[in-house]
Amino acid sequence: MPLESLLQISHPACVKCYSCVRICPVKAIRVDVGSGLPDIIPERCIGCGSCYKACSPNAISYRSSVEETKLILSSGEKVAAICDPTISGEFHDITDYRKFVEMIKKLGFAYVSEVSFGVDLVAARYNELFNNFRGKFHITANCPAVVSFIEKYHPELIGNLAPIVSPMVATAKVIRQKYGADVKIIFIGPCIAAKDEALRYDGDAKVDSVLTFVELRQLFIEFNIRESQVEFSEFDPPLGYKGSLYPISNGILQAAGVSEDLLTGCVITTEGRNNMLDAVKEFDTRVELIKRNFNIFYDEGCLMGPGTSQGGEKFLRMTLVTDYANKRLLTFDKETWQQEVATSADLDLARDFAADDQRLPVPEDDKIEDVLKMIHREGQMHNDIGCEACGYSNCRDLAIAISQGLATTEMCHIFSGQNRQEYIHTLRTANETLAKTKVALKESEEKAKHEQEAQKESSEIISIMLQNLLSGVVIVDEDLKIYQSNKAFIRIVGEEAALIDEVIPGLVGADLKTLLPVHFYKMFSYVLSSDEPIENKDVQYEDNKLGVSVFPIRSHKYVGGILRDMYTPEVRKEQIITRLTEVVDENFDMVQKIAYLLGEGASKTEQMLNSIINTYKNPAKK
Ligand code: SF4
Ligand code: SF4
Repeated sequence: MPLESLLQISHPACVKCYSCVRICPVKAIRVDVGSGLPDIIPERCIGCGSCYKACSPNAISYRSSVEETKLILSSGEKVAAICDPTISGEFHDITDYRKFVEMIKKLGFAYVSEVSFGVDLVAARYNELFNNFRGKFHITANCPAVVSFIEKYHPELIGNLAPIVSPMVATAKVIRQKYGADVKIIFIGPCIAAKDEALRYDGDAKVDSVLTFVELRQLFIEFNIRESQVEFSEFDPPLGYKGSLYPISNGILQAAGVSEDLLTGCVITTEGRNNMLDAVKEFDTRVELIKRNFNIFYDEGCLMGPGTSQGGEKFLRMTLVTDYANKRLLTFDKETWQQEVATSADLDLARDFAADDQRLPVPEDDKIEDVLKMIHREGQMHNDIGCEACGYSNCRDLAIAISQGLATTEMCHIFSGQNRQEYIHTLRTANETLAKTKVALKESEEKAKHEQEAQKESSEIISIMLQNLLSGVVIVDEDLKIYQSNKAFIRIVGEEAALIDEVIPGLVGADLKTLLPVHFYKMFSYVLSSDEPIENKDVQYEDNKLGVSVFPIRSHKYVGGILRDMYTPEVRKEQIITRLTEVVDENFDMVQKIAYLLGEGASKTEQMLNSIINTYKNPAKK
């Protein structure tokens, strides 16, 4: 199973305050463009733990070693705990360190030893290195966060890192030399970067697991181990000397007997995030002028490391460490210590480093300017000022991080505030438009409803009129299927149509071809295809004589037919008038000529015809 990365962010717990982004010394936290949530980039992370300490909602956690420790302890193998001397500053609630040793043993450890002896060995190597100046200044390599920072962000300084293992690794070697190569080793300390440091070593330098003090407290609680229930127990040898002062940043120099005299000393000690950054930078650029070795710790001494309990007070812890060192010195057996040192003299405490360059190329100026424009901070290109709310020290740095894909424009509060205003404005305009559209839609819906009702009403009127006409009316579609017909049509067509009408009122859908003879329905086919009307054509149908007009309604789609029964009195009268009028019109010339030849006689013929017409038109005047 791949190893979990050293630190993780739990997104559900994250409130996007970006304190982690602000504090991270190497910008190892990328903010996702879409969600705005931060994630740690393991390759860029140096394990300093600043983000973990800065995250007040506790959304950041580090890789736990609790289960791994329990597994090792239950393996049946001999396990040694090697305790960082910072333990005296952390566990001030345990009144006697001997109780504390027994509490650890109760967890199942076969040996409990101090790392301070390893500090003594390492300190001696530093003494040698610093006092044998051969033209090159060094940076101490005890703090894993500092080592990682140089490997990743100042790889050109790798040759200046002191090639000496850390006290943790030196102690692991000592314990294996003393108790056997098979013994498992668990380091208990204040540092989370040590969890990754341990992964670099194997063989006699191997550290099988790294427990923080916080994790050790968890185990005490889980196994219900309390000071009141245990007796005294001493640390297993070898015991340390001044190495107990290691938790204080210049403690190792004191242990080494290296002078920090301002006039004659050859080492500068510094601690804390910003001092570490400045120190490495100045060492890189100015060491030839500074002419000193640098002893650098990321945290304010290991006393305040991220693996210690939160809320610790630095000076109280410092006092507890020095008190403990003094107490131990009272019973210190220098002779035994010297023998132990002599036994360990042959241990190989050398180490090397590997460049792992994580520096990102700085984008071109025009690209940075483009991003500044995008976030409306055009004037900030050559300005070191910024509100820092985004986590970057100025707007230009944020623009660089955006270009490098580490940050997002939304991290600029001013920009996202303006965006919010614009968004609100757009939303308001869209809402107003939507409201207007709704009103217009309602109006047109009502209009359409009225039109529909009017259409329905007129269609009902037409239908009633159609049904009450004396003439037969039929409308057919392009397949000669009946679309609509009236009662008079059904009556004219006859009994068969009347029967169908009972089942399908108005003969809707009935085939005209099955109701009328060929010569009759062909008139409808003709009008459908030609789009030309047939007017008032006489058609013999069964015993009836019909006057038939067929006309197009919608070109090639619908045609209508009007059938008039010539034998009904109304139609017959109308027909007589029409026909007589036609006779008069057609024979008018001839009537004139006859009148000319015969005088009044012919004129009387015309008058007589007209009088017959009038008689039919106005029966009352008969
Ligand atoms: S410090 Fe980082 S991880 Fe923690 S809540 Fe804030 S943004 Fe989220
Ligand atoms: S541990 Fe340090 S380097 Fe790693 S992400 Fe957190 S603050 Fe950045």
